[in-house]
Amino acid sequence: MIVALIGNQNSGKTTVFNQMTGSNQKVGNFPGVTVSKKEATLRGHADFTVVDLPGIYSLSPYSSEEVVTRDFLIDEKPDVILNVIDTTQIERSLYLSIQLIEMNIPMVIALNMMDEMRQHGSHVHLEKLCEYLGVPLVPISASRNEGIRELIDETVRVAKTGQKPAKLDLCSGPAHRAIHAIMSLTEEGAETAGLSSRYAATKLAERDPLIQKRLNLKDNELEAIEQIIALMEDELQTDNLAALANMRYCFIDKTVSASIHKGSGEDLLTQRLDRLLTHRFAAIPIFILLMALVFWVAFGLPGTWLSDQLTDGMGWLTSQIDSALATSGLNTVLHSLIVDGILAGVGSVLSFLPLIALLYLMLSILEDSGYMARVAFVMDSWMRRLGISGAAIVPLIMGFGCSVPAIMATRTLPSKRDRRLTIFLIPFMSCSAKVPIYGAIASVFFPNHAGLAMVLLYLLGIYLAILLGLSLRQRSDSSQASPFIMELPPYRFPSFISVGRNLWEKISDFLRRAFTVILAVTVIIWFLSSFDRHLDFVYSSDDSLLAWLGAVIAPVFKPLGLSDWRIPAALISGFTAKEAVISTLAVMSGATVETLGPTLAAMFTTPSAVAFLVYVLVYTPCVAAVTAARNEFGNWRDTWIMIAFQLLAAWLAAFIAYRIALLWSISSIVATIIIIVILLLPVVLNYRAKHRESRKRAV
Ligand code: GDP
Ligand code: MG
Repeated sequence: MIVALIGNQNSGKTTVFNQMTGSNQKVGNFPGVTVSKKEATLRGHADFTVVDLPGIYSLSPYSSEEVVTRDFLIDEKPDVILNVIDTTQIERSLYLSIQLIEMNIPMVIALNMMDEMRQHGSHVHLEKLCEYLGVPLVPISASRNEGIRELIDETVRVAKTGQKPAKLDLCSGPAHRAIHAIMSLTEEGAETAGLSSRYAATKLAERDPLIQKRLNLKDNELEAIEQIIALMEDELQTDNLAALANMRYCFIDKTVSASIHKGSGEDLLTQRLDRLLTHRFAAIPIFILLMALVFWVAFGLPGTWLSDQLTDGMGWLTSQIDSALATSGLNTVLHSLIVDGILAGVGSVLSFLPLIALLYLMLSILEDSGYMARVAFVMDSWMRRLGISGAAIVPLIMGFGCSVPAIMATRTLPSKRDRRLTIFLIPFMSCSAKVPIYGAIASVFFPNHAGLAMVLLYLLGIYLAILLGLSLRQRSDSSQASPFIMELPPYRFPSFISVGRNLWEKISDFLRRAFTVILAVTVIIWFLSSFDRHLDFVYSSDDSLLAWLGAVIAPVFKPLGLSDWRIPAALISGFTAKEAVISTLAVMSGATVETLGPTLAAMFTTPSAVAFLVYVLVYTPCVAAVTAARNEFGNWRDTWIMIAFQLLAAWLAAFIAYRIALLWSISSIVATIIIIVILLLPVVLNYRAKHRESRKRAV
């Protein structure tokens, strides 16, 4: 049996899903986190599958999520709808619920966020509400795991008995009469199309083109329906959509005033915090300060201290294993595979786990508290100058974690144009897999300012994204970024469980990659750098197969000061997963976790290290991200354009960085400033030209 989880964005569906099934899906306190449907088995009921669907506000085809959810309900015919409601936003939630009831599918309503209701001093009169809606209700608090057991029992009972909503006629008035008139005309057609006739009639009254097509209506039928709608519009003096919305809200108002007592404590905290955090002048400095704090914790003292401890620990472990293998007299090749290959390669990546975990922890807390949604709101007018809507900031910030979910999250953006542009920009947000590369190189070449160097790389990425955004915008100015409508969720104290879950998922994902992709690449690289063309074991990797291959591409990187054959080889291995760049360098140079520093110091000069870092920042993301981008673009053409562009841009950026670093003197500083001013000119000009503030709405 199938349980379909349906509700508004941010109502807690994914939290309910995780509690009911014991899975570990991403929860976030801003709309649009769940973009595709997820399935899992109901806890204790192996014959029940729970499906988590994207959040929607109505069953009208306004957004692709709404179409996905609607088609799921019609085509997959779930056995029960579990409608999750944010009870603190009951009016808006019921707007969807009464449309779901019309589908005449067995249904249970979960009244979520009861903890917040209590805090606000609000109260729900359950029997009254149940009487009005005619659907079983279960009060829960998903993030505290309250009422989940009752919810599971009730859902199973309703599914097994097939108990349909007690009544479909909730509303009244002229709009309601029109629906009935349409219903009598189309009842048969709806049934053959497998639709609830009531639902079909409502959608026809909305002039829903998808339903008109589904019912295969004849011209004279369409005409008759059109007459009914016109009559209704005439009587009510509004258009059909407003008439139906009024009809629904009329019923909702009655229901809510009869069954809910609203406390006075509602959202006082949110209002106060919003006054500060979305303040006209204070908002952006606060955002920058918070991001600085995030990066300081991850890449500053706390992160590097933890990382050093781990490096020491692994160094010790490696030397123990090394000497144990030496005394056991194991075959040299195997010994080399274990120590120079696996331990060096995987170890060099693992030591950066603390930085990544801290970065994720901080971002999850910001996300779960509801702050990120404010960032989207505050940044909207700035993002608009880049020609994309403020909503794009959410995927872009997710890009600091991993490009793959970030690229998938662009699905929630309102227009195709916004999605395409945002996908182009996401790879410029340094993903966490690049942290080990930045960390390893920066700690060798800028030992006293490693954290600062990493932050500068992040900033450079953002700067390049802005430049790219501006230049792309100029080309496609004909169509503007679509207006931004997003709900600002209330601030919540980050839930320990969901932050912990997010964090654990990232850590385990990182570990899984370290021991699968990275391990495999490591072993392959070890092989290629330990044997020569005649498959003889070599004692210096300079004679190896890989050296021979690397030398072929090396000329391309010569102008960047990267003449060592190992560097192009490492960059290519980074295509599988970015962390592999550093593990490959370690393996090829025969370094252990502890001697990695001196080895890198010998491989680069400071200017060429800068060029290398810049190249890594900009060049093509890993296979997983490219695949995700290809899925979202829906074609290979854009994907290839993206790849080619990034390879070219990376080379150019690295070349410029190398030249600047090479000439680092008073005159070059002056030259740099002049270049920056020239590059910033379009931003300034654009700012002046933009006299009209873009329209911004928050619902
Ligand atoms: P979805 O968009 O409907 O999937 O919603 P999520 O499951 O991602 O949850 C949105 C936010 O609400 C997250 O920050 C959750 O931690 C929070 N949340 C979920 N259930 C509850 C609850 O019962 N009480 C409170 N206070 N917060 C909740
Ligand atoms: Mg969700």
